[in-house]
Amino acid sequence: MNIQHNIQLQPYNSFRTKALAKLFAQPKTVEELQEILATYKTEKKLVIGHGCNLFFTQNFNGLIIKPEIYGIKILQENNDWIEIEAGATEDWDAFVDFCVSRGYSGIENLSLIPGTVGAAPIQNIGAYGAEIKDVISLVRTVEIETGSIKTFSNAECDFTYRNSIFKQTRKYVITSVIFRLQKLFSYVEKYVDLSRELKGNPNPSLWQVREAVINVRNRKLPDPEVLPNAGSFFKNPILSKSEKEKLLTLLPDAPVYNAGTDGFKTSAAYLIEKAGYKGRRKGDVGTYENHALIVVNYGTNSGQEILNFIQEVQREVKNKYNIGLEPEVWIF
Ligand SMILES: Cc1cc2nc3c(=O)[nH]c(=O)nc-3n(C[C@H](O)[C@H](O)[C@H](O)COP(=O)(O)OP(=O)(O)OC[C@H]3O[C@@H](n4cnc5c(N)ncnc54)[C@H](O)[C@@H]3O)c2cc1C
Repeated sequence: MNIQHNIQLQPYNSFRTKALAKLFAQPKTVEELQEILATYKTEKKLVIGHGCNLFFTQNFNGLIIKPEIYGIKILQENNDWIEIEAGATEDWDAFVDFCVSRGYSGIENLSLIPGTVGAAPIQNIGAYGAEIKDVISLVRTVEIETGSIKTFSNAECDFTYRNSIFKQTRKYVITSVIFRLQKLFSYVEKYVDLSRELKGNPNPSLWQVREAVINVRNRKLPDPEVLPNAGSFFKNPILSKSEKEKLLTLLPDAPVYNAGTDGFKTSAAYLIEKAGYKGRRKGDVGTYENHALIVVNYGTNSGQEILNFIQEVQREVKNKYNIGLEPEVWIF
């Protein structure tokens, strides 16, 4: 068991903010993870993957666990589908590439989302009309408090929009994820940008869909290696009927979609743009010029500076449209 002390977390979060972790562990097996959990029972704990959806505003006075659990295994298959288990630390996009190259469909629209396989179920990652919940069979975990192994069925994961039981409880370390993917593929249009990129081809191959997703994403989103960011910063707000009506009296063009029993969804990017914050920069923090929802770091080491900017955006949107923006990114 190798535990490091006072580790700089700047390389471990995609916003590149500076903070020290009191303790830092990289367990390579489930058993090693259990041993660490048993030894450091009373320490505050945080599990991280590639750190693409979190940043630090202060030192972390506890134990950071960054699992190093790899491996891709085929569990079972027939003519129609295949079940594959991937270790939590496998890179998500490399796993998508592995599957698409072999003709397994279901995750091609989730190409190029940065992060690990283990973090993907936490917020039920989604893009271009697809969500990971649609292809997950099982999630294997270790309970932080007891060290016991618990496997969740898809239904037990309680997946909803950018949410899951793992995000709600924060009680489990995900050690691997089992996916059921299809061997047959026929393209279903879910997103007009993607179809445009496919130049109207009604029957693209799996590989062509992956390439189209990569092209669209590369055009729209800043590369965190070049311009540190954590992707979309806020969730799209869910509104009640009366909130929706009030918004439409203030902004008649506001995009509003039916979100089923939850109410109505509107666009956080639209609200931020209307509040005058698209492409706006304050000091070393701002929103991306091509995408109002993405907060970018132009050069600060300070998570607090990023937090101040985010709170200003939240305040302005609340004052103007009486809608609270909830972060999708974790702030520590
Ligand atoms: C440029 C960019 C574009 C993005 N685009 C999208 C997108 O299109 N769709 C989308 O859904 N997301 C998107 N994201 C967000 C991000 O890619 C996902 O949230 C991703 O799953 C984060 O993976 P990670 O390994 O970096 O997780 P981290 O940031 O390290 O962790 C995220 C959360 O998961 C927890 N966690 C991580 N690993 C484990 C584990 N093994 N067990 C238990 N808990 C764990 C952490 O405690 C934290 O709460 C984007 C981010 C960036 C930077």
